[in-house]
Formats: sequence, C-alpha cells, structure tokens
Amino acid sequence: MTTANTQSWNSIEEIASAVRTCTKCVLHAGRTNAVPGSGSANAGILIIGEGHGFNEDEQGLSFVGRSSGKLLDELLPAVPIAREDVLITNVVKCRPPNNRDPLPDEVIACRPYMERQIELLDPRVIVTLGRHSLLRFYPEGKISKDHGKIVEWEGRVLFPLYHPAAGLRNPAIKRDLQEDVLRLPEAIRESLRLSAPTAKRPDRQAEQPTQQAAEAPETPETNVAEAQLSEPLLTSETPKETKQGDRQLGMF
Ligand code: SF4
Repeated sequence: MTTANTQSWNSIEEIASAVRTCTKCVLHAGRTNAVPGSGSANAGILIIGEGHGFNEDEQGLSFVGRSSGKLLDELLPAVPIAREDVLITNVVKCRPPNNRDPLPDEVIACRPYMERQIELLDPRVIVTLGRHSLLRFYPEGKISKDHGKIVEWEGRVLFPLYHPAAGLRNPAIKRDLQEDVLRLPEAIRESLRLSAPTAKRPDRQAEQPTQQAAEAPETPETNVAEAQLSEPLLTSETPKETKQGDRQLGMF
C-alpha cells in the first residue's frame, strides 16, 4: 500500500531523513533517535523487526543492543550472511516505552515509511521478526505456527522468524530460531526461482503462510540464476557497489 505522501521519497536516504524528524505518533516524544534502518540500500534481503530498544534508541541504529542485536549477530554468520548484505528495519521507527509492543495507531502512522522502503529496495526476500512484523503481510498469520516457512508474497519470498527477543526469553524459541535461520539460503534460492524468467507461478494457495512453498525444481535456468545471483549473498561477497558508501552499516 502506498499513500500519496510516500511518493515524495525517492531513495532510502530520503525516507531516513523523513523518519528522523517525524512527529506523526506519540512515540516521537520519548525517543533519543528515530531508527530508520541499518544496512545497505542495495540489499536483497530486508529484515523487519517490531520496535527497537534502549541501545538502538541511543545509537540510532537497528539491532545493536546487547540482547537481540547480539543474538542476531550470532545467527546471521551461521547462514552465512553478513549484516551488510541486508537492510534491517522495524515496523515502528521510534522506541516504544519500556519496550512494549507497538500500538495499532503507531503501526498505522509509521507504515508508509516501511511500505516505501519495500518499494524502493524491492528485496527478493523479506524476513519478518516476530508477530507484529508478520501481521503486516499476513493478518491471519500466527508466528508460533508459521515461523520458518518459506512463503511467496507478491512475487518474492516471505520468511517469518521469531523475534530474537523472544528467543532470549525462551530457550525452546531460541532453538527454533537457530534452526529456522539455517533455511535462509533455501529461501534465497526460492526467491531466485520466483524471479527467473521461466519460473512457473505457484497457485494462490501456495501464498498462504500455512502452506509451505514447494521445493524448487532444479532447472538449468535456476542454476544459472543461482550462480549469478545467490552466491554473493550466501558468501557475503556482494558485487561491487555503484554508489559510494552504500555498504556501510548504519548509513541511514
Ligand atoms: Fe513517526 Fe514512526 Fe516515529 Fe511514530 S514511530 S514518530 S510514525 S517515525
């Protein structure tokens, strides 16, 4: 969904500027810094959390805290995918007090920023962290049931995961999270299959989060696409950037 307001933001950086001065909901009153997102403006993977915590608010960067940020740093190398290969943002860009869940009116007020980030980045894979992030894409989704599934969403892959904060509170969820994240390369391969010219569009039922995406048949076209596109993501050796500074973590 795009509102007329979002049309004036023509780059990830312009969105970041708008976020930093935003006063559209009450969360602006308690923030030290708004946090538009961290990572590369050319990332193929967009990770969307819920709302950030104390350290993120202090530093103006996503997932840098000693808890969730540290766990995310532990999980990504297991794939391996570097943080620089992704853009990490949140459903709301300002910290909810006492790390409470974002309220519906706050999510609605902040939504145009995330919508435009998705439009401009056009990521192959969207990783949602936690319930609120999943609900943006599947209002009927249940994170306890849908975590770790590889689902088609509007021609790209949606990959719901538990929020790292939940993993820190619950060892069983942490184990699920550790297992689920290992499927990220599979999610990337599925996204390549969807974007390949010869890709057969799955039927509508396959887009439901309760339906796991079918294994991609290995066609020569798929293999070529993987050789050209997925290996840099999987090995963190991303192609040379065309714009200076794009790959600096925390540029936004
Ligand atoms: Fe604006 Fe979003 Fe911050 Fe609310 S949470 S003040 S809508 S940037």
